[in-house]
Amino acid sequence: LVYDVVLRPVIVGDFACVTVAFEDKTEVYEAGQMRRDFVANVSHELRTPLTAVLGFIETLLGPAAEDTSARERFLGIMDREAKRMNRIVGDLLSLSRVEAERRVRPTDHVDVSAILRSVALNLQPVAKAQDVTLIVEGVEGCEEVPGDHDQLIQVFTNLIENAIKYGGRGKEVRVCLTSHTDEPTMRSQAVRVDVSDQGDGIAAQHIPRLTERFYRVDSHRSREMGGTGLGLAIVKHILNRHRGRLRIESHAGQGSCFSVILPYE
Ligand code: ADP
Repeated sequence: LVYDVVLRPVIVGDFACVTVAFEDKTEVYEAGQMRRDFVANVSHELRTPLTAVLGFIETLLGPAAEDTSARERFLGIMDREAKRMNRIVGDLLSLSRVEAERRVRPTDHVDVSAILRSVALNLQPVAKAQDVTLIVEGVEGCEEVPGDHDQLIQVFTNLIENAIKYGGRGKEVRVCLTSHTDEPTMRSQAVRVDVSDQGDGIAAQHIPRLTERFYRVDSHRSREMGGTGLGLAIVKHILNRHRGRLRIESHAGQGSCFSVILPYE
């Protein structure tokens, strides 16, 4: 707990007194601390690829200036690191746009079936590159839900991309839409989309933290896969705006299921 102690002189009758007030500043302090942590994390995340790029530029201008094979290799690495920085900046912008709109309820009516079909089509080449079979089930005859079309595309893209990335080569990713579900945690009827994979799964202690910005179970693996550590944070913020939920079920060694629950009303 953080308190400000405020002393105020007062006159009571013939006496000069001082009142002492304790003001609870815990929330303000915590918000400030979160902001400082966030800026430190962003700086760290951007500095890592930037340091690599600067190092390779220096080598190319100096010792490796005449070495054509090294030049090609180093340019390849610089290209990958610069693209990573670009993805981090893009995800940070998405996150800040979603946060700016968090109090504005989406008013469009979106067809979740159509969204899933188009996301699956877009991600087919990514799945194919990983030798992953992407299966979409139950997409006929679903209610429309109030929502923001582009943001929901982003939610399902992030979840299906993760399932492909972390599910493992040669495995299946299943996307299943249930059009009427009575979720105990929801007041109204809802649509549920389950995205499940056959990967290594996630140990229980990590699950509550997965939607924190830059939280990764295995940083090395995430970076190898080109991850930014922001995908699930974006999903969480978009779903909050839709009064929706993200439920994560996973057991180490048994794959994971990320469920999106979106209310009708
Ligand atoms: P990243 O860009 O690192 O993938 P995300 O925010 O999308 O960032 O996910 C955060 C972390 O959650 C990942 O680094 C990974 O450790 C874990 N994760 C997400 N989806 C899955 C999944 N389907 N299977 C296993 N781990 C996952």
